[in-house]
Amino acid sequence: MEKVLVTGATGYIALHCIQQLLYKGYAVNGSIRSPERKNEVIDALKQCNTSTENLNLFNFDLTNDEGWDEGMQGCDYLLHIASPLALQNYEEDYFVKPAVEGAMRALNFAKKHNVKKVVLTSSVAAIFETGTEKVFYDESDWSDPNSPKISNYAKSKTLAEKAAWNFVEQEDNPFEFTVINPALVIGPSLSGDLGVSNTAIEMVVTGKMPVAIPIQFGFVDVRDVASAHVLAMENKSSNGERFALAECDLWYKDIAKLLRENGFNKAPTFAVPVWLAKIMANFNEQLKVTAPYLGRVRSVAKTTKAKDILGWNPRPSEESILEIANQIKDMGLIK
Ligand code: NAP
Repeated sequence: MEKVLVTGATGYIALHCIQQLLYKGYAVNGSIRSPERKNEVIDALKQCNTSTENLNLFNFDLTNDEGWDEGMQGCDYLLHIASPLALQNYEEDYFVKPAVEGAMRALNFAKKHNVKKVVLTSSVAAIFETGTEKVFYDESDWSDPNSPKISNYAKSKTLAEKAAWNFVEQEDNPFEFTVINPALVIGPSLSGDLGVSNTAIEMVVTGKMPVAIPIQFGFVDVRDVASAHVLAMENKSSNGERFALAECDLWYKDIAKLLRENGFNKAPTFAVPVWLAKIMANFNEQLKVTAPYLGRVRSVAKTTKAKDILGWNPRPSEESILEIANQIKDMGLIK
């Protein structure tokens, strides 16, 4: 039985990857940094009728060597998914150090243990901040980590991915290597933790966002992000490639409309025009962070690389939005 190490097993995307891997008959080693969260992972998998017989959880962190040897022992593949993610633009050290050091640590241990293939989770954040404003982007675009506009999260993803490609080149391809660059990931959470990116839907469905702000994102379902990881891992033609994943682009006003049409009446009815949102951003800290993106389209939805090479077939984002909205409702979060 082939074995996969998945880092950050408590995470929203990683749990779906683990679930799909176990379902497909792989053995899985999962890393967690907080031992007390082990049961959360096991319970989440059991709740979706996934046997945990072939799952082993190990305690180790991105910032420390301890525990990596045990976790990587006997693994054929590595899905390196763990990395700091937050809505707030915390200071650089919060994001960059663990992301870059963690990626390097993961790759060094993968090389040491003769892992066959590594799939690294990057982001469209490592694609969009090129320094030139345009609408459509693809896998050939790279964020400039020195751009004055770049967020600390985007910087962390860009530097970690760049460091990983450099490692693979300098070490003369010690393993097969593929990178996945998802847009905003939404859809059902397997645990009680909704995940950071579902906040985009939670704010609309609960009415925490009383008016629709003119911001657009590319969306992709978490199950399809997980399947892209597994497809990339299994498919040799993904070697040496990065894959941007977005099923479609939506504005908050589109999401609000969809939710209202499906009975979620807390979703806003009024869409703020861009000029007004820009004025509001001067007085609101949360909006200030989004100011450069108000009214802007930044899209990878036209790239077909994952479909062409991996046979990736994402579900419609409307489905994912309604599913997570229903989960949020069932959790009693809509007051
Ligand atoms: P998540 O639920 O916050 O998962 C992040 C995982 O990383 C958690 O398991 C977390 O552990 C772990 N982690 C963070 N800092 C760590 C550290 N210093 N040492 C060890 N583990 C650490 O986020 P996610 O949405 O699943 O994201 C997973 C990956 O996808 C990340 O690389 C993220 O950048 C990327 N991504 C996400 C999106 C999105 O929209 N969600 C889009 C593009 C790319 P704890 O649970 O203990 O905190």
